Amino acid sequence: MPTTQTIVAIGDHQPEMAEREAFPPQRFKVYTAKQLDKIPQLQRLCEEQRFEMKVVASVLPFRVNEHVIDELIDWDAVPDDPIFQLTFPQREMLAPEYFERVAQALRDELPREDFNAIVADIRAELNPHPAGQLEHNIPHVNGEPIDGLQHKYRETVLFFPSSGQVCHTYCTFCFRWAQFVGDKDLQIAAKESGQLQDYLREHREVTDVLVTGGDPMVMKTRNLRAYLEPLLGEEFDHIRTIRIGTKALTFWPQRFVSDADAQDLLDLFREIQAAGKHLALMAHYNHWRELEPAIAREAVRRIRDTGAQIRAQGPLLAHINDDPAVWARLWQTQVELGIVPYYMFVERDTGARRYFEVPLVRAWEIYREAMQQVSGIARTARGPSMSAHPGKVEIQGVTEVRGEKVLALRMIQGRDPNWVQRPFFARYDEEATWLNHLEPALGEEQFFFEARQAG
Ligand code: SF4
Repeated sequence: MPTTQTIVAIGDHQPEMAEREAFPPQRFKVYTAKQLDKIPQLQRLCEEQRFEMKVVASVLPFRVNEHVIDELIDWDAVPDDPIFQLTFPQREMLAPEYFERVAQALRDELPREDFNAIVADIRAELNPHPAGQLEHNIPHVNGEPIDGLQHKYRETVLFFPSSGQVCHTYCTFCFRWAQFVGDKDLQIAAKESGQLQDYLREHREVTDVLVTGGDPMVMKTRNLRAYLEPLLGEEFDHIRTIRIGTKALTFWPQRFVSDADAQDLLDLFREIQAAGKHLALMAHYNHWRELEPAIAREAVRRIRDTGAQIRAQGPLLAHINDDPAVWARLWQTQVELGIVPYYMFVERDTGARRYFEVPLVRAWEIYREAMQQVSGIARTARGPSMSAHPGKVEIQGVTEVRGEKVLALRMIQGRDPNWVQRPFFARYDEEATWLNHLEPALGEEQFFFEARQAG
């Protein structure tokens, strides 16, 4: 029996105890394509639907954890539920001819090698590394390419730590899907952070390091610390901001609340700030529903308590969030929780894009209508923005110049710093879904960035 003294002692730690009771540690249980049949909720679907999922999951990555299944998906609203669409494969994600080839191969129970060859062929057709990621953005030291780094924009280096190349759950629309399908040749991963440090020592123009993946938050804190702590030293005083790209706030908020090393992680965040760096979590959100669970809100609160900032970004996607009301509510909720709405992206030209793409003109209308529904304080999201080969191109709107209906565009980030903030025009096109579908307007023969490329 506790004595009075111990009761007082427990009372001193009551908030901590209460928190532990409110958010007890949870086991991380994940299902992959091979375990689709083991997901109890999928038994609600007919056999044909489950087979279709297996076909698609043979080509595109699939992985979902119990938190997503139990807390985020409304199974009464399946298949239309946005989080179901966000995480579970759907037949139309593959073109009919690809779907049929894989379906037939599965029905025929082809030998593993033949089956894999079919899948590899199809993956190669799905533009696995859009915007020239493999050829153009890989930095070199002494003429040697550096694995696990990308340097596209002068001030920002992307770092892909090898132990952060998975996610707690995979998004069906992921533009980095090729990293998850087990093909080592397609992986961009660093074995250790030494090369990152060597590169940054030589590149004092770099002010921002973006740690990305996959999801770096799948790493244990001690691994993340091994990458980040060296950057806090004086020799890296040119690094002003450390960004971490993550969807853990949605897919596994336990990472910041109840995992065994959650507190260590928050301590690391505090140390980064104390070293004078700005720490920004680039949180990936697609729908306001992701911010509903109490633990997701608690994770936001705890991260903000460390002084780190959370900036929210995510693509506009058919079947998930192609509705101004969804974006308005998402931005409004983010602002209420202290998150800064940062970007609305256009779905990239890769993977299951055929299923998710929204024409650029419609994307701009959705952005505009969503903006009209929120106050100025929630209007901080840029977009809709395409992360294309020359840079990030924002659709500014539809207008008329010299009697010609045009799309006004702006290069908000450019491969060449001189391109940044340059406005330009494309012919109005209601069908176009990506930059390479657009034609220059006003009698121009090429866009300004094409002129530079040709030269
Ligand atoms: S969290 Fe990001 S990297 Fe991971 S699957 Fe989703 S979009 Fe891709």
